[in-house]
Amino acid sequence: MAAVTPARARVAGADEFTVGTEFHRALDDGRIECTVCPRACRLRDGQRGLCFVRARAGDQIVLTSYGRSSGFCIDPIEKKPLNHFLPGTPVLSFGTAGCNLACRFCQNWDISKSREIDTLSSSASPLALAEKAKSLGCKSIAFTYNDPTIFLEYAADCADAAREAGLKAVAVSAGYINPAARAELYAHMDAANIDLKAFSEEFYKKITFSSLAKVLDTLEYLVHETEVWTEITTLLIPGHNDSDAEIAAECEWIAGHLGTGVPLHFTAFHPDFKMRDVPPTPPQTLRRAREIAIGAGLRYVYAGNVHDTANQTTYCPDCGEALVVRDWYRIDRYALSDTGQCAFCGARVPGVFEGPAGDWGPRRQPIRIAAPSHKHQEP
Ligand code: SF4
Repeated sequence: MAAVTPARARVAGADEFTVGTEFHRALDDGRIECTVCPRACRLRDGQRGLCFVRARAGDQIVLTSYGRSSGFCIDPIEKKPLNHFLPGTPVLSFGTAGCNLACRFCQNWDISKSREIDTLSSSASPLALAEKAKSLGCKSIAFTYNDPTIFLEYAADCADAAREAGLKAVAVSAGYINPAARAELYAHMDAANIDLKAFSEEFYKKITFSSLAKVLDTLEYLVHETEVWTEITTLLIPGHNDSDAEIAAECEWIAGHLGTGVPLHFTAFHPDFKMRDVPPTPPQTLRRAREIAIGAGLRYVYAGNVHDTANQTTYCPDCGEALVVRDWYRIDRYALSDTGQCAFCGARVPGVFEGPAGDWGPRRQPIRIAAPSHKHQEP
């Protein structure tokens, strides 16, 4: 069995899950700065960055989680969420550990906040992963559960292997990444869902310890400077980012800066991590947000994490017919041509449509990928 890191330079004295990276620079005071994300961690030898998986080793910053995962699942692509990208198809999904944000409301905190590398109990080479995805009928692989920004070298190699196998690659990210690393990561991706967590710098600073401006910059980059199919998700947290004014400002910015055809998903918050005192998002809030978004001119706006067919359906931009009727992750009606045209009037719906819709349904199926032989091998 091949090692997990065949294409990357190994780091002397480190295990095979550790690879060198390009994105760092030496500082005058002897520290080395990681330049992947605006966090700009400045590290002395042996220290780890805030994301935990990048660390300083000698005169460089290394990635310590190449080829390691918190587990693999096959999901419906609608779960990423992506509603305009190969609808109904299965996607092999995985993440690693750690995150470069520190959101108090994190919905994946067991993975993203993990400081235990042992959380990464699964491992796979990019080739093994792509072969497994193809053999199971997946049309794409997705880097999700935590942010591929922090493991971009592994994500890029897996995406390349996927493309060689005829599959596509999907990044689910908060978009908090510097321009050079961003160009490298997204050169390998076919689609992205970017979390736009709120529309105020105050929220971003206090609740996520990051910056809204950097995320907006990533969205403009993806939509205007790449071919990456991009959708946006905003998790609405009662009392924190769900006012009419804030939602309207977000939607007007999207319409004005990205265009009215970029899909927007409003999803429901469930009390978790450090925000257990906040109630779950009422379905009415999702419906209200969607109405505001439609009022701002956005054409494809979805309510997520709930059963709400009327607000999860894709409507024709010209004739208004219900074209893709969804109940949560299940497609109940599909009236698009193989290239994404309305079956009633022929208008084109923006997105990536290659053939008929898939029939994966709402299932979530954990899978195992044969581990390579090394000292961390699974029993
Ligand atoms: S990627 Fe990780 S180590 Fe690098 S700057 Fe961001 S949080 Fe720090």
